[in-house]
Amino acid sequence: MMRRKLVAGNWKMNGSCAALAELDGIAVAAAAAPGVDVAVAVPFTLIAPAAERVPALVIGAQDVHPAAGGAHTGCVSAAMVAEAGARFTLVGHSERRCDQAESDGDVKAKAEAAYRAGLTVILCVGEQLAERDAGRAEAVVTGQVAASLPDGAAAAWLSIAYEPVWAIGTGRTPTVADVAQMHGAIRRQLAASIGEEADAVRILYGGSVTADNAAGLLRAGDVDGALVGGASLTAAKFVPIVEAAAAL
Ligand code: PEP
Repeated sequence: MMRRKLVAGNWKMNGSCAALAELDGIAVAAAAAPGVDVAVAVPFTLIAPAAERVPALVIGAQDVHPAAGGAHTGCVSAAMVAEAGARFTLVGHSERRCDQAESDGDVKAKAEAAYRAGLTVILCVGEQLAERDAGRAEAVVTGQVAASLPDGAAAAWLSIAYEPVWAIGTGRTPTVADVAQMHGAIRRQLAASIGEEADAVRILYGGSVTADNAAGLLRAGDVDGALVGGASLTAAKFVPIVEAAAAL
């Protein structure tokens, strides 16, 4: 099955109105790579100005609350980010699973809320270093996929991002063979959960992706794109990753 590559940036709690100028170059690269989907998840406060500045680029959120509204001080609903111009959201990023103690059940509910609001979803999973060292990485990750997969999950609106927690922002990456093995395991879990639809679901790799390692990672079996943190903050670093995906 041919799956279109998806290269998504995650600005985390970085960026400012001035930094939106970086999106101009990213939008130009995205337009020059029609075979690749390019998207950037910005902080809530930048969604509307980003979507206005580069309407052709897919702008997203990094999280949404599972409820449609109500007494949840400081939280933002999926409908709110959609109204601001987001077309997708991340859910279950390890920095939320770890820092905000989000469970698989929370992640599932967030993905379902995003779908109801018309957003597409990148659902993140990944093991901690101690879990990998204990030989439990595959069991942990496939367990997260099984337990956080939203009801009605379909490739048209859901992608998975495999992000080993120890590789995020550290400059360390698993070997390409390890990534391919984990992506194969994730696809088998998807097949067990949603049947034939699993073939069409994109599985992205995330964790210290750079211009230097992108091509090798993106060529690995069952790797359908990349989720990029630090290297998505500037066009100079992100555009070569988009170009690497386009060149495959
Ligand atoms: C991320 O934030 O999802 C990520 C993968 O970060 P980095 O590319 O900086 O490791």
